[in-house]
Amino acid sequence: MDTVHSLSDQSVAVNVLRLDKIHSVVSGNKWFKLQKYLKNALESGQKGILTFGGPYSNHIIATAFAASAAGLQSIGIIRGEEARQISGTLKDARSFGMNLVFVSREKYKDPVMHAEITAEYGHEWTIVPEGGQGAQGILGASEILSLVPGADSYSHICCAAGTGTTLAGLASVAMPSQHLVGISSLKGDDTLTGDISAWLGNLNRRFTIFFDYHFGGYAKYSSDLIHFMNGFYADNKIPTDFVYTAKLMYGVQQLLKTGYFQPGSKVLVIHSGGLQGNRSLKAGDLIFSNE
Ligand SMILES: *Cc1c(COP(=O)(O)O)cnc(C)c1O
Repeated sequence: MDTVHSLSDQSVAVNVLRLDKIHSVVSGNKWFKLQKYLKNALESGQKGILTFGGPYSNHIIATAFAASAAGLQSIGIIRGEEARQISGTLKDARSFGMNLVFVSREKYKDPVMHAEITAEYGHEWTIVPEGGQGAQGILGASEILSLVPGADSYSHICCAAGTGTTLAGLASVAMPSQHLVGISSLKGDDTLTGDISAWLGNLNRRFTIFFDYHFGGYAKYSSDLIHFMNGFYADNKIPTDFVYTAKLMYGVQQLLKTGYFQPGSKVLVIHSGGLQGNRSLKAGDLIFSNE
């Protein structure tokens, strides 16, 4: 698979692992995070996967597709009341056979609803937390590096960080000498670093999360970010999504500019997919298409 793309300049070699190329709709890292959950549902003879997400969720569409491809059913508990015009993401999820259940924003975050769902469905369905996070998600994400020839030769591995599940998975199989770099797509207080340390336990892995490149917070963007995405595409022919991978590429570029990576470093950047999320942008904002 032609998935490793070189961005190298001067003294630092930069390669991009194009998980966006795995499938036009299914987001790369979500596909990996789901594999162990799918296996569990199949091996225990369950009906399928039940999971949670918003109307543009990469995880929802990946689950709908992956479950269907595995011969399993899927249920998506969707945040917010059903709109008259549902999003393209949800339409596609439905076309892959997902049964969509809309719940109000209040109910969606209510632990009582989650307990009720577990009690009602937990026996016949594998319940996957939002975004495919959790121990099974980490295990699934740990397989991403098996796609990279000579993965051990990189000094740094960079990825976007939402829940940090992907970063934890990558870190769990990285060499002790390798440095993981996460670019947070969320504004904010740094609970991620603690979460990831806890997941990694006594596996000593070097990782650093940067919180400076979120452009206002989760799924927030500015005209500067859109401008960056178009410029990055013009220069490298790599499309990015505004929620995760554009912020990742922007962050990595800033780190390159400011000399964060020592000369001689070899940097692997994981493009985690998610392009379908650009459907929530205004038509014409981007010079590349999502499909
Ligand atoms: C969900 C997602 C992420 C964040 O992954 P985590 O494992 O939650 O940190 C990154 N990139 C894309 C494209 C995603 O869809």
